[in-house]
Amino acid sequence: MTDYLDGNVLAGPLREVFGVDLTTAGTRCVGCGQAAHVAELRVFTDAPGIVARCSGCDNVIMRLVRTPDAAWLDLRGTTALRVPLG
Ligand SMILES: [Zn+2]
Repeated sequence: MTDYLDGNVLAGPLREVFGVDLTTAGTRCVGCGQAAHVAELRVFTDAPGIVARCSGCDNVIMRLVRTPDAAWLDLRGTTALRVPLG
């Protein structure tokens, strides 16, 4: 199945929340420990909100739901989000 997009599709929605490009940010999967950049995650946009999954074990790394007045970001699938700064 290739019904997913790569993590670059998250650039716009995450920039709206954080004001920076997070596609180069690092994640580490809670499920299998695989390290990956946000751009490398498998993104499903037809789920409720946007769901980004680990390419190693299919664990949900992050979920982003946009409501008219807020963004809900669920990051429980990554042990940390490493954001590179200048
Ligand atoms: Zn994984």
